[in-house]
Parts: sequence; C-alpha cells; structure tokens
Amino acid sequence: MTVNKQQLKKYISDSRSRFEDLLGQLVEVPSISMDPTRAGEMPRAATLAVQYLKSLGAEAQVVETGGYPIISGGWTTGTNYPTVTIYNHLDVQPAQEPEWKESPFAFRKDNGIYHGRGATDDKGPALSALLGARYAIEQGVPINIRFLWELEEEIGSPHFAAGLKNRLAIPRPDSVVVSDTIWIAKGKPAMPYGLRGLIGARLTLKTGTKDAHSGVTGGAARNPLAELMEIVHACVDAKTGKVKIPGFYNDVVEPTKAEIKSFLKSGFQVSKFKQAYGFQTLRTQDPAEIMRRIWAAPTFEVHGLTGGYHGPGVKTVVPGHGELKVSMRLVPNQTPEKAFALLKKFVAKLNPNVRVEAEGMLQPFQGLFEGPYVEAVKRAAKAGFGKEPAFIREGGSIGAVVTMQKAWKVPILFMGLSLPEHGYHAPNEYFDWGQASSGMTAFAHYFEELAKMEKG
Ligand SMILES: [Zn+2]
Repeated sequence: MTVNKQQLKKYISDSRSRFEDLLGQLVEVPSISMDPTRAGEMPRAATLAVQYLKSLGAEAQVVETGGYPIISGGWTTGTNYPTVTIYNHLDVQPAQEPEWKESPFAFRKDNGIYHGRGATDDKGPALSALLGARYAIEQGVPINIRFLWELEEEIGSPHFAAGLKNRLAIPRPDSVVVSDTIWIAKGKPAMPYGLRGLIGARLTLKTGTKDAHSGVTGGAARNPLAELMEIVHACVDAKTGKVKIPGFYNDVVEPTKAEIKSFLKSGFQVSKFKQAYGFQTLRTQDPAEIMRRIWAAPTFEVHGLTGGYHGPGVKTVVPGHGELKVSMRLVPNQTPEKAFALLKKFVAKLNPNVRVEAEGMLQPFQGLFEGPYVEAVKRAAKAGFGKEPAFIREGGSIGAVVTMQKAWKVPILFMGLSLPEHGYHAPNEYFDWGQASSGMTAFAHYFEELAKMEKG
C-alpha cells in the first residue's frame, strides 16, 4: 500500500480542529517538571495523554518510574510487522520571563499560530506525530506504532532509565524516532544524528580558614584564585579554545567531509547565530568551522570562579579559598568518565591541593548518518516539507536518547518540527499549523517507509 497524497491531505485538513483542541487542552496543563509546586499537574498531563491515545483507538497506560510517570501506548497491528517507538516529552520549561505578552498557560490560536508554553517544546510535535500515525494505522500500513511520552525531559530524565526497565509496559521497538529538536532555519528541514555529551566539575582549593589582608600577609600567603586560574590556563587555550589536557582528544572521531557538507545545507548563517546569542565577535567567522566547533568538537568551558571579594571597588583580601566551575562538552567516542579521569589526573599533577569533583555526566550520542533509515527520513521529510533535510548534529544533550540507545541498541532517528522563531525555552513560545500539518505528512510517509523495511 502507498500513501495516497490527496487522501492524506484531506485527512490532515479534516484533523485540524481536532489537533487544535488536543493541543489547547494539553498546553493549558502547566506541566513544569522543574517546579515542585506544579507536581500535581503531572498526573493530570498523564491522564489527558492516555485519554488522547485511547480516543484515537490506541491502547495506553501510565507507567510509574519513581519520579514523574511515562505514558506508553500505541497500536499493535501485527506481531510480524516492524515496531517503531516515537519519543516526545510533555513536561515544559518554566514560564516566568517578564517578556510574556499573554498568560503562558492560556492557549491562544491565531490564524494557524498556537501560542503557549510547551506548544513547540514538545506538545505540538507530539500531537503531530500522533495524528500522522493515526492516518498510517487507518490506512492499514503494516507497522506497529508506539508512543513514549516522558514528563521529566526538562530536568534531565532522572527516572527514564528506571521506567524503561518495565519491558512489559514499554517494549523494545525495532527503531525509535525522536521529535524534539529545532531546525536551523525556516524552510530548511534539519535532522540531527549526533549529540554532544557533558561532564561538569568543581575544582576547589582551600589555603586558609578565612580571607586575610594583602597588606599584612600578601607575598607570603598563597592565593587560591590565582592558583585556580593557573589550572584553567593549563587546561585550555583561551584564544583558540583548544583543550590542553593530555590525552583529551585521543578518542575524538572527527566529522567526515560528507558530514561537514551536510551541515552546510542546514541554512546556518553566522550573522544570525551572532544576533541570536548577542555575540559581538567569535573565535572564527567560517560557517563550516563554527558548525564543526559547536556540534562535532569537544570543549572545555569555565562557568564561574568564586571566592575573594566581589563587591564594588577593590578590597585587598587574600582569599582563603576558591572554587572553579568548569565543564567539558564531549563528542563520540569520548566518555564523561574518561574525560573526568584525565582532568583529575592532570590537576593532581599541576596542583595536588586542588579537589576535583564531578557533577552531571551525559554520554555523547552518535546516530546514523547513512543507510536505509536515513534514506527513509530523507524521503519522508521531503514528502512533508518539499525539501530533503540536512543531517546535522546538536551541541547539547538529550539524556533520554542515550538511555534508549543503551537499553535497546536499535536505530534512533530524529524528526524535529520546531523552528528557531518558535521561542523554544523562551518567552512567547508558539507552534504553527504549517509545521504541524507538514509534520503529519512527513510522519505518515515515514511509517510507510519503515513498513517497507525488514523487521529488525
Ligand atoms: Zn524538548
């Protein structure tokens, strides 16, 4: 069977009011996972999600994790058909920014624009995938489609791995598609296949029990802030960003020429990048080099140095202690464990009095850049958006992706629907019917593509 383009178009336009109703109700549940005072909203979001799935004829259940629950459900049409799991999250970022023009949890639709916190991240994409899936199932596409909707993504998915252990409620699929990413430019679909990992570290040095006066003790007293800065200088070249920790680059897999070429199709513009983040100057002006650096190269970053005096003017103290907050973004095949061990060993050699403590570890993720799944995403996105997607990487991390890869060892693909102007993690967030309807088309085609592939 093949997707009938006219019929799918009609199904999608007929589904519009349903999509808007579902999105509206869901946006009006303020499921802010970061805010403990909103804990009561999480079961409400879960109940609503289960209702949505059931109202479309899918089975669905709430899976307890020890934290906020996971919603698991879908359609099983044949045990010999391939199974795909679609991952989305239904928790949202806080919305306290003073720039909000309207109440963030009062859904407003305005000519195909859907306003409200969570509209694009990630409730709108979740429901677009759901309606695309419903069409494929109605048409008898020989595939099993499952949904995995998390409620802890915005806090780093602390109980996701525990949830996945419930194999009965959350069975292992043949492949996964994640719909929770942003394109680089409107009109240019971009699908990531790699994520950077992360390891944070706190470096502390105590040389006295209190701050002392530099006129009385300076010269003889050690200065912990200066000693910590010496460590920074040894670890990273501040001008180029090159990391100087011995062995740091040993496991790095450099992106290929084909990958860089693909990055260049994403619509990335240096001027827009600078404008979006308020940069006056950068370490490089070359777009290919910028994308390599932010997506496919590791970093050593200094986030803060505390201790001593931070008030107005200059107070001539010699601090008794200092703390340096740093992190390293990591790329395949680095691991946070090894990067931390290298840092710790290097610091011990430089300054044995400095304590080094790890904080937050995320593995990098390397997905597929070529092969049948990638071809399937390309054809589906082209059917939906009229243009082949650029395969790019992301500089950040999505903890759940690494957890699914570790638990299931199946291909994980991305089909993101958000645009940079949608206000992801920002005030006045919105989603739009253009991305939703094209997304439904892309998903419907993707399921058909998967059904043609052999069961894994
Ligand atoms: Zn998200």
